[in-house]
Amino acid sequence: MFESLSDKLDAALKNVKGEGRINDLNIAETMREIRRALLDADVNYDVAREFTNKVKEKVTDESVLNAVSPGQQFVKAVYDELVFLLGDVHIDLNTPKKPPMVILIAGLQGSGKTTFTGKLAKYLKSKGRSPMLAAADVYRPAAVDQLETLASQVGVPVFSIRGEDGVPLKDAVEVARRAKDEARRTGRDTLIIDTAGRLHVDEAMMKEVVEIKGAVEPDEILFVVDAMTGQDAVNTAKAFNDQLNVDGVVLTKLDGDTRGGAALSIRSVVQKPIKFASTGEKLDALTEFYPDRMAQRILG
Ligand code: GDP
Repeated sequence: MFESLSDKLDAALKNVKGEGRINDLNIAETMREIRRALLDADVNYDVAREFTNKVKEKVTDESVLNAVSPGQQFVKAVYDELVFLLGDVHIDLNTPKKPPMVILIAGLQGSGKTTFTGKLAKYLKSKGRSPMLAAADVYRPAAVDQLETLASQVGVPVFSIRGEDGVPLKDAVEVARRAKDEARRTGRDTLIIDTAGRLHVDEAMMKEVVEIKGAVEPDEILFVVDAMTGQDAVNTAKAFNDQLNVDGVVLTKLDGDTRGGAALSIRSVVQKPIKFASTGEKLDALTEFYPDRMAQRILG
């Protein structure tokens, strides 16, 4: 995860790390290399520029220039700015208004929504909650089957509506609405609704998920995005947030050969916290997202 970004930042900071003094020359050189490292990692251009401007402002402060180890202060300035960029502090799921807590999962097809739905159920179950899943991704029967398989692995019920022929009812809003009634009736304290995605942002998909939001009044809307899609991840996040006003972002596939740009840009561009990171296909490959831990990982 982020190996290339880590290596490049490390190389950039070598310019100043061992230095007893930092000066205009090595500051300028290091800033250039940091900016290049960020852009190579697919970080949004404006985000990268603001990042280096802020670090530069900090390290040209008299107290840093005259410090005993200015190089270390320089590294700290980069670390602090990374933490800030990633959201500063960890933000938990919202506290539900009243049971059942309803969590709506949205995102493009293939982003990892269904897998995350299973992981979240496992995570919440381990915290003592009793989740139920709703299969509102009704267009692909395989998606309903996939959710049922995950649910049986986690040991939680799934709500779906299938006709006598076994084909799912193609009314996602109705499935979501009835799933909430069912969760209430059967005393489940949490309902996680998996929705349909498309390959690209599309009007019909947005309309449907906005309608589901209206029908079930979720306590939490999580937008799931494949971190490997770089700049596209940021654009997709913006599109979903404009329509849904999401509460949090879930970055998936951070285990892959991701360059890290999505992780570093989304918070700042969309102004919504990253709440979870998914790092594999298995059900336990999920971590709560902590900006400081991620920054430490990036700086190695
Ligand atoms: P959906 O269409 O958004 O519901 O996406 P799926 O949950 O079906 O995931 C699409 C593919 O990505 C599947 O093959 C998953 O196993 C895989 N996947 C999901 N999350 C991760 C992850 O964090 N890391 C990796 N490597 N693969 C993942």
